[in-house]
Amino acid sequence: MAHEVTFIPGDGTGPELAEATRRVLEATGVELRWDRREAGIDEYEKHGNPFPDETLASLKRTGVGIKGPTTTPVGSGFRSVNVLLRKELDLYACIRPCKAYEGVRTRYPETDVIIVRENTEDLYAGIEFEQGTQENAQLRQALAGLGASVREDAGISIKPISVFGSERIVRAAFEYAIAHGRRKVTAGHKANIMKFSDGLFLEVARRIAEEFPQIEFEDRIVDNLCNQLVSRPEEYDVVVLPNLYGDIISDLCAGMIGGLGLAGGANIGTQAAVFEATHGSAPKYAGKNRMNPAALMLSGVYLLDHLQETEAARRMEDALAAVIRRGDKVTYDLKPSRNDPSAVGTSEFADAVIEEMSA
Ligand code: NAD
Repeated sequence: MAHEVTFIPGDGTGPELAEATRRVLEATGVELRWDRREAGIDEYEKHGNPFPDETLASLKRTGVGIKGPTTTPVGSGFRSVNVLLRKELDLYACIRPCKAYEGVRTRYPETDVIIVRENTEDLYAGIEFEQGTQENAQLRQALAGLGASVREDAGISIKPISVFGSERIVRAAFEYAIAHGRRKVTAGHKANIMKFSDGLFLEVARRIAEEFPQIEFEDRIVDNLCNQLVSRPEEYDVVVLPNLYGDIISDLCAGMIGGLGLAGGANIGTQAAVFEATHGSAPKYAGKNRMNPAALMLSGVYLLDHLQETEAARRMEDALAAVIRRGDKVTYDLKPSRNDPSAVGTSEFADAVIEEMSA
């Protein structure tokens, strides 16, 4: 039976990366029926809304989507499509596998970690009180009544971490570990300093870990975790983190595996799962057939896994890994020099992966 998947090309370099990925996914032979929907700055300029209701409705209906990057204007304009998506679909888990494929220039060739980031709480919850406002003054007054003084000239961001949010993200990390044959989950936190937010996250993590005795569990203070990831990456397997640390550590690990061109990801929620690359729309390269489609293709591999098309997922990943390993038909960012004239374009990279799959 065909799988129906919402296909969102995005904007900037998104459409060419999405097209390359779509061709490779189809070449796996898995029957995919695309419901193509728009989102991003082009859609905003054409119809005044960067995230049309039909796109959201499609994701709710199919429950699964693949998305090219979308631009968020700085300052004025509209809110990030990604933030809206996360909120509307309650995409609470951001899962970013970071594996160093052979052939990639990296100082950390042993890296093979899965970053599981909580996506809805923490300092990113958007609960902020601007310095100099009435609300800020009210909050400071309430805090003073509780014996906590905050300077008058301070801006304030609130860091909520709940039992509910921590339970579901830690459980997602353990369930991922079991489904993908992983052996260990590490929880990152700063519970020694933030006892009632990170401390609660750690307490919940320890409790949930008891439900999964077959998987090893440990915790690390997040600064030490950074140090250890770049000293002994081979010791880490699945790493679960609250929102802010997850954001930072997933970029750290993206750097360790050879850069943004290779970092794919999944946003998993209660209503849907949306697969997309970590990188943005790189608008200055739009239409140049230059960007590396591997990050979105890897997101496509995770999409196939999610659809339980495991054999096709491995075939696609192996073909992608072989093209990267050989290094002749890859984009500029995977070449030893950025100006290497032998670098191929986005579309030719896809051709090479398709050819490899049919070899
Ligand atoms: P970016 O990731 O788009 O690009 C930064 C640089 O990284 C590029 O100039 C390029 O040198 C390199 N790069 C990125 N993707 C690459 C690829 N596939 N292959 C090779 N090199 C690649 O980051 P930015 O310039 O900060 O953001 C541009 C826009 O994208 C912004 O509007 C931002 O809000 C948006 N954004 C969207 C998403 C998303 O849709 N998920 C994520 C991050 C940023």
